[in-house]
Amino acid sequence: MDQPRAPHIGRLIREGGRSFSFEFFPPKDEAGEAQLWQAIRDLEPYRPTFVSVTYGAGGSTRDTTVDIIGRIARETSMVPMGHLTCVGHTREELQLILDSFAGAGVSNVLALRGDPKEGPRAEWTPTEGGLTYASELVELAAGRFSVGVAAHPGGHPASDSLDLDVEVLRRKQAAGAEFAITDMVFRVSDYVGLVERAAEVGVTIPILPGIMPILNLGQVTRMGELSGHPVPDEVVERVKVHEGDPAAVRAEGITMAAELCEALLAAGAPGLHFYTLNRSKATREIFAALRITA
Ligand code: FAD
Repeated sequence: MDQPRAPHIGRLIREGGRSFSFEFFPPKDEAGEAQLWQAIRDLEPYRPTFVSVTYGAGGSTRDTTVDIIGRIARETSMVPMGHLTCVGHTREELQLILDSFAGAGVSNVLALRGDPKEGPRAEWTPTEGGLTYASELVELAAGRFSVGVAAHPGGHPASDSLDLDVEVLRRKQAAGAEFAITDMVFRVSDYVGLVERAAEVGVTIPILPGIMPILNLGQVTRMGELSGHPVPDEVVERVKVHEGDPAAVRAEGITMAAELCEALLAAGAPGLHFYTLNRSKATREIFAALRITA
């Protein structure tokens, strides 16, 4: 039997003013699990609008994603959202996973296509009996769940044009998506450009910018790989001047992220979505700089 359902994120964003949310990923071992739950407990007092848990490549975290979002629903005051991707699953399997989300008391899903194991630029081949685009997963989940989708300010790495990207976002909205969350944003102009192009083709759902502070220089390349676009030069330059002084690099990264958050909200962003990497310290420091208290 389904557990009592958590509130719908689409409605919370529409009715609740600015949305603040935190993203976590399923840990690989016990130490990682302890770190995740410490971060969840540290961030709970900030009363986020929702928290989300990613879905690993190739369905590898299927059970842990369901376990964590179920535990968040049962043991915390926060509204959980499970990510789900089409990678390696048939339509029937996806339906069963959605059933397990509902059974765990989860009412919110981020419906994604996912990436081939060679990365986001590699050719995508759907699983036999599975789905081709995220919009089909939106259709499968809409009605029963409040459904969010991904948006790509710099363009999806495998997409031909920024115009196709916003058309894809419009299709996901037409299929029932109630909100979107972007890849990592580093410049306000990238976010505003996406929102303007999306509005031109009729996208009206709220688009939350994704925030990940640069905490060390080694992380910059990995961030580029994750989003499919290099971190802009002017952003890298600001931290690079502190090369050799890790504490100064970190402090500059936090300052830049806080400035970005302020500018995004001033530009009309309906909220902020933080990629926490299962740690709370950086997010708490950004909140302190924004004068948001627990
Ligand atoms: P889609 O919207 O399906 O788009 C994929 C590609 O197909 C794009 O190039 C698009 O232009 C094209 N396309 C879509 N529809 C059509 C159409 N009808 N006709 C022609 N072309 C079309 N990945 C994970 O594995 N696990 C996660 O938990 C996860 N969480 C994420 C969270 C956020 C906030 C974001 C932004 C991304 C996340 N990702 C995650 C990464 C995501 O899976 C990749 O970005 C993936 O490459 C695209 O997913 P999508 O849902 O945007 O796909």
